[in-house]
Amino acid sequence: MNLNELTLVQAHKGLQKKECSSVELTKACLKQIKEKAHLNAFITVCEENAMQEAKKADELIAEGKQQLLTGIPFSVKDAICTKDIRSTGAAKILDNYVPSFDATVVKKIREHGAVLLGKNNTDTFGHGASNEHSMYGPVKNPHDETKVPGGSSGGSAVSVAANMAVFSIAEDTGGSIRQPAAFCGIAGLRPSYGRNSRYGAMAMASSMDTIGPMAKTVEDIAILMEVMAGQDEHDATTVSQSVPKYSELLDQDIKGKKIGVPKEYFELEGMDSETKQIIEQQIDSMKSQGVKLVEVSLPHTKYAIPVYYILVPSEDSSNMGRYDGIRYGVRTEEASNLFDIYTKSRTVGMPEEVKRRIMIGTYALSAGYYDAYYRKAQKVRTLIRRDFDRVFEQVDVLVTPTSPFPAFDIGGKKDDVLAMYLADVFVGPAALAGLPALNVPVGKTSTGLPVGLQVIGRRLDEVGVLQVGHWFETKQ
Ligand code: GLN
Repeated sequence: MNLNELTLVQAHKGLQKKECSSVELTKACLKQIKEKAHLNAFITVCEENAMQEAKKADELIAEGKQQLLTGIPFSVKDAICTKDIRSTGAAKILDNYVPSFDATVVKKIREHGAVLLGKNNTDTFGHGASNEHSMYGPVKNPHDETKVPGGSSGGSAVSVAANMAVFSIAEDTGGSIRQPAAFCGIAGLRPSYGRNSRYGAMAMASSMDTIGPMAKTVEDIAILMEVMAGQDEHDATTVSQSVPKYSELLDQDIKGKKIGVPKEYFELEGMDSETKQIIEQQIDSMKSQGVKLVEVSLPHTKYAIPVYYILVPSEDSSNMGRYDGIRYGVRTEEASNLFDIYTKSRTVGMPEEVKRRIMIGTYALSAGYYDAYYRKAQKVRTLIRRDFDRVFEQVDVLVTPTSPFPAFDIGGKKDDVLAMYLADVFVGPAALAGLPALNVPVGKTSTGLPVGLQVIGRRLDEVGVLQVGHWFETKQ
């Protein structure tokens, strides 16, 4: 096995036993990044920085100061700020933006000694489900280069799936970690809202944004969450509950667990039959473990997409106001007055999808329409959350497909706005409700495309979600 193919756990052990050095590991990843450059997973590669950090990690290991992540090469979605390393959010308006600080989770990971390789391509500011709405070009799926990797964190997913990075840190507002993880055949966790700090993530929809890990295994995800999670003075929405030792709790027997299967996630018109079959078989295989499977109903699921695409653009339209061509980022040279600076900088600096969301959101929030759209959507959001509250009185976790279909063709949905929005149908509801949700790869279609299963848990029950995900990962 090549060094860049190792999981986090394997790489950690390899470093511990001095079977490899961080410099070797990092070089192997950088080589793979170059060889797979045509996949377009990175916007910025910081080779020099990575080599320096790797050397430092090797020194620490030699001094007996190895921590869990010391010397492990990783990447970060470009919509998350990294100190002294360009962070564009895949928007030309931030083409020259170099943050003076690390996002809190990135800071924690770097303090643990991990080696930052570079910044991953994404749909601009996280707006999308295919990575085609990036101003730095689309990303290709390593399982079939004519397919999208999913989005918005497509670059992060590909960097892990194609063995360029051991793990990646990404953002999930309404599926951006889970759906690309499903399309690329890796693990990805959207944590409960409030579990991980959002400080340093480029805000998209602040009431739903989360930062989470993407990795080769659920076990790696558990380790990363131990480092990432916790209260942060820079994010008032983070919770004070202590962070469990996720990795030590993974192996618990799932016998006796009550697993809910929400029927709405299997009745969708136009769902890919092979995906459905693979997921159903996987769920069925839990029976032999003494698990109690319970069919449940989340009746408001059908409203999740319309509600999401009113609330998210509303929050987006407000958050995008900070990109004005003045405070930071790129300013057009052609402006003769203030109004020109705003409009011309945004015209060239933002893609169509971002502009669309600013317009939809501004409309939904405007006087006269606020009650009809925004307020109503908020009310239905409450109903969606209550659906989950009700079923979680009955079951411990829910299992569903992550996506109704495997990776689709590049160009297949890009110009069909509604079709692209509908791709989020199974990942949107948990986001609206603030719940933890994990993608775990469970199979492949006859054409070799990965299929992912989603485990959704009660708020702050990452442990329950990871345990069930880990069971799927290790059962064979
Ligand atoms: N596809 C969703 C959207 O476009 C997901 C975005 C996200 O989670 N960042 O809004």
